[in-house]
Amino acid sequence: MYDVIVVGARCAGSPTAMLLARKGHRVLVLDRAEFPSDTMSTHFMHQSGLARLRSWGLLDRLAATGCPPITEAVWWYGDLPIRGSAPAYDGVAEAYAPRRIVLDAMLVDAAREAGAEIREGFTVRELIIEDGTVVGVRGRSHGGQEEELRARAVVGADGHRSLVARTMNAEVYKERPSITVAYYTYWTGLKRGYEVYLGNEQQVAVMPTHGDACLIVCALPNAEFGRYRADVEGTYHQIIEDTCPELGKEMREHGQQMEKFTGTKDLPNFYRRPYGTGWALAGDAGFHKDPVTGQGIADAFRDADVLSTALHRVLTGTGEWDQEMANYEETRNQATAALYEFTCLAATLQFSDRMRQAFTVLSYDQAEANAFLGLVAGTTSVIEFFSDEHMGGLVERSKDVGDRERTLTRQAAATG
Ligand SMILES: Cc1cc2nc3c(=O)[nH]c(=O)nc-3n(C[C@H](O)[C@H](O)[C@H](O)COP(=O)(O)OP(=O)(O)OC[C@H]3O[C@@H](n4cnc5c(N)ncnc54)[C@H](O)[C@@H]3O)c2cc1C
Repeated sequence: MYDVIVVGARCAGSPTAMLLARKGHRVLVLDRAEFPSDTMSTHFMHQSGLARLRSWGLLDRLAATGCPPITEAVWWYGDLPIRGSAPAYDGVAEAYAPRRIVLDAMLVDAAREAGAEIREGFTVRELIIEDGTVVGVRGRSHGGQEEELRARAVVGADGHRSLVARTMNAEVYKERPSITVAYYTYWTGLKRGYEVYLGNEQQVAVMPTHGDACLIVCALPNAEFGRYRADVEGTYHQIIEDTCPELGKEMREHGQQMEKFTGTKDLPNFYRRPYGTGWALAGDAGFHKDPVTGQGIADAFRDADVLSTALHRVLTGTGEWDQEMANYEETRNQATAALYEFTCLAATLQFSDRMRQAFTVLSYDQAEANAFLGLVAGTTSVIEFFSDEHMGGLVERSKDVGDRERTLTRQAAATG
């Protein structure tokens, strides 16, 4: 009998298991994948997620994998560059875009080192439910016999199509259909940093990663999936040509494509009630959203932290299940509500008139540019940034050529 069985060993599952094992609990992690294992995901990690890795003692280990730190971003809106650095989060100033085959294996190793038992290549087929309470799982290793495994709690960290959530009919709320479709691949031979190109209902992002390579992802509205279905390669390059032709030229002249294209149109947006009697959800299983703002990994890490603390309290008799799990859900929802709305808005790949005007100011005011970049890094309040007062101020300033001149003069003075 385990204290906790965790289904899924990636960004939500392994840290949940690691943190519980570090607190002395008997934890089993089951994943049908065998690590190192890649998964369909781009992998920009903002400062908020990295601060959690640091608190777990794993940030230095990530840096040691050879992934380049990202200290500056350039977002282009047409020919307006919004260049800067998001404010640091809890002292973490840099971002990273580590390949998932590296990151996920590192997380699995850390869970194992903490004392969690990890069974790779094990598929959970069903939950064991007694008197309405989840008490374990049934499943099998590749080619093995079916096994019954029991625990005091089962955590579904099993992704957005979660077997645990579907079996327990977890309530879904704030649901929105898929908004974008995105395809990506990796390139070498390019001299590029972290760049985002905001086009007209299309978007390109470049992320430097392991092996002197960069990932380039191209997104379209979900309704235009037919373009990708007809011709993935042609559509990918056409988006780059339309949105950032200079990048396209460099790719043609110097770039080597490293892998085939990967992509999906299955990017639904929803929350699930993340618990019931004997079971809880973490990561994408409980909260899934469009990847356009790159929040999934950091959200999974936060869930691991908060859920493992709640489970520890229940397992040690210092907390009561319903109360601890309600707090867990509340914490998650409060932490993510504004960014969820921003993500769903950003995923439309469209911009309001006032946002277009604001981009003008962001292109020359360093503090405002940094604040904008902090929206996705978790260091700028979405509510304050998009308040009528702040956005109204940016719009007014965008009409004032003198403001632009004064700001440029101040910048010139500051840089000597
Ligand atoms: C195209 C795309 C781009 C993205 N880009 C970013 C980005 O730039 N930055 C970012 O932060 N996030 C990004 N995300 C989101 C990110 O990938 C997810 O939020 C993150 O992977 C969630 O981790 P997880 O552990 O909750 O789930 P998952 O990564 O889905 O892991 C679930 C695990 O559960 C296992 N599993 C499932 N069912 C079973 C079963 N029955 N038995 C055994 N094992 C099972 C699976 O094998 C898998 O290993 C992107 C996602 C997509 C699709």
